[in-house]
Amino acid sequence: MKVGVVFCKCGTAITEKIDADQVQQRLKKLYPDVDFVTVDLACSEGGKEFVEAYLKDKGIDRMVISACSPRDHENTFKGCMHRAGRNPYLMQMVNAREQIAWVTADKVAATDKAVRYLDAAVRRVMLHDKLESKQLDICPDVLIIGAGPAGLKTALTLAESGRKVIIVEKTPVIGGMPVRYEDTFPKMECGPCMLEPIMGDILHGPHSADIELLTMAEVQGVVGSYGNFIVQIKQRPRYVDPHKCIGCGECTAPCPVSTKNPFNYNLDEKKAVGFTFAGALPNSVYIDPEACVRFKGESCQLCKDACPVEGAFVFDDKERVLERNVGAIAVMIGSEVYDCSRIPNLGYGKFPEVYNSVEFERILSSTGPTSGEIKSRTGKPPENVAIVHCVGSLDSKHKDYCSSVCCQAAFKFSHLIDKRVPTAKITHFFKELVVPGKEEFHLFHEAQNNTKTKLIRYGSIEELKVSGSGERISMEHPNGKGATEKTIFDMVVLCPAMIPAEDTAKVGKLLELTQDKAGFFDEMHGRMDSSLSKVKGVCLAGTCQAPGDIQRSINQGLAAAGTILSGLVPGRKLEIDPIKASVDAARCSGCRVCNSVCPYKAISFDPAKKISHVNEVLCMGCGTCVAACPVGVIKGNHFSNQEIMAEIDGVLS
Ligand SMILES: Cc1cc2nc3c(=O)[nH]c(=O)nc-3n(C[C@H](O)[C@H](O)[C@H](O)COP(=O)(O)OP(=O)(O)OC[C@H]3O[C@@H](n4cnc5c(N)ncnc54)[C@H](O)[C@@H]3O)c2cc1C
Ligand code: SF4
Ligand code: SF4
Repeated sequence: MKVGVVFCKCGTAITEKIDADQVQQRLKKLYPDVDFVTVDLACSEGGKEFVEAYLKDKGIDRMVISACSPRDHENTFKGCMHRAGRNPYLMQMVNAREQIAWVTADKVAATDKAVRYLDAAVRRVMLHDKLESKQLDICPDVLIIGAGPAGLKTALTLAESGRKVIIVEKTPVIGGMPVRYEDTFPKMECGPCMLEPIMGDILHGPHSADIELLTMAEVQGVVGSYGNFIVQIKQRPRYVDPHKCIGCGECTAPCPVSTKNPFNYNLDEKKAVGFTFAGALPNSVYIDPEACVRFKGESCQLCKDACPVEGAFVFDDKERVLERNVGAIAVMIGSEVYDCSRIPNLGYGKFPEVYNSVEFERILSSTGPTSGEIKSRTGKPPENVAIVHCVGSLDSKHKDYCSSVCCQAAFKFSHLIDKRVPTAKITHFFKELVVPGKEEFHLFHEAQNNTKTKLIRYGSIEELKVSGSGERISMEHPNGKGATEKTIFDMVVLCPAMIPAEDTAKVGKLLELTQDKAGFFDEMHGRMDSSLSKVKGVCLAGTCQAPGDIQRSINQGLAAAGTILSGLVPGRKLEIDPIKASVDAARCSGCRVCNSVCPYKAISFDPAKKISHVNEVLCMGCGTCVAACPVGVIKGNHFSNQEIMAEIDGVLS
């Protein structure tokens, strides 16, 4: 064993505080056999060449490098070790810049501290084991959960790059929330039309053979880890063969059953057989077994009789459970809106003319309950409309965050009401106005400059009180001049906070994903890695990670696809870092303390053997479990108790 200490001066950033000559002399006294060399800017090309040559020429096989933060350059110097033919894990780094020079005012104290840190590092490097990274075979296929804008963009990008993709979508249609919007901010493009090129390519494009689309499906089990997940998918029966159905819709009219239409938030009714909405993709009808009288024992088959295609109806269709092998999973299950009835003073659920934003989107849509006509339930166009922003947002009693899209949706509504009912007066009640972005401002300006539109700030949502009788509803509200007024409105549109989708906890549990305090999926890092979850191999995109608009969801989907493409390359093995924890199976008491503390969900419990086990693909080597194990039977490679104690002795010497 030959240990060498490389001391980087880092320009003058380190040596203006630490006396390198003194450090060398004092270290030599402690370790006469340890070599010492100084170098300027070890991270530069010349510096790296110097370090490599030094290791080779002096026969150094274990290196202590005193330089800047390991975050910046640990891998740089591991590279030097590797190129010099040394095991990169026989290296220990001392952060002499951030931890000593930048934070110690006195030169003598800084030099003294440097000697102790280097003493600690020398003790520790002598105990390091040689570690080798492992290589695993991978499956390059990808599972996408959720076929909204984020999921669709991710799927198509992956398929265009030659990957096989499986899309699991819970509903009978693809497109997510935006297929409900006839117009989207900022440019008032039609939602389904805007997504059509992606949806069309998913279904019939040049790469569609690589995409398996499973609608009416949900993931019900996941085992394995990054590179090799086995996923169980449950698919509900459609009772119509989507490959045979030509989408003519002949079967719908004869159906004798009318039932509530959840796609339009129960504002109208649908038949037991039919499309989710006109133009829905895939272009195939489905039967709702809850509504169809045939599933209640009657012999009706009017739909089948009306169908011009032999074999399109499959009344004995069954639920299927499918199994797929994938290397990565992208979770993109979107979001929903806050329940406005939790703010009783707004009258939602009590007065029929009080709508939430997603219901109003359907009223605005030509495929919605009023075919896009803005009218009250009595059939009259509204004369006076109130639009309430920030419902349940920025409010510690409800959701304390801003959903970032509600104001823009509110000004979109304003624009469309003004266009379709030019006589209508509109009042926006807002707590804060949030319209960031290079294109988003114009709808706000339009409302601001419209003489029929008023904007009034309120302080707390309790200041707005909706009451009424029959068709008339009135609202008590601040008037913007310090007083309270009561105004008659014939329509109130509430813009509630975006909240995690219904299935967030369920999907999170299946994949061991954690949720933030608002309930959205936790990302690896909110700024740097918002498309990665904390579970390796599971990506996130869209509003299941945080509220946002379509642009953000699509961009995040692209980022997720990029991450998957660069990490899982067909034919290339998955290289895993050997700094891992491992459980001594013979001594594990099975208490499972480690299972709950691991932030990367890398430890599972084997109920048959009654011991815990670390999955080395998921383990990030953080050492939390090593410290938590009450019987001390988890070892951290590179962080053994012996190494840590030797290092502490050195620092305290
Ligand atoms: C009222 C309102 C108006 C808006 N208007 C605009 C606008 O004009 N312009 C704009 O840019 N943004 C707008 N937005 C924001 C926009 O809706 C979102 O940015 C976008 O829908 C997010 O896309 P996504 O793919 O993340 O999620 P979603 O669109 O919600 O899609 C998620 C998909 O996942 C599926 N899913 C859910 N759970 C499961 C499960 N367990 N298994 C399988 N699949 C599942 C869902 O069925 C859905 O198809 C608006 C939002 C609201 C609330
Ligand atoms: S009639 Fe047959 S082909 Fe036409 S939409 Fe219905 S199931 Fe499909
Ligand atoms: S079997 Fe009868 S009730 Fe059922 S979907 Fe067909 S037409 Fe409607």
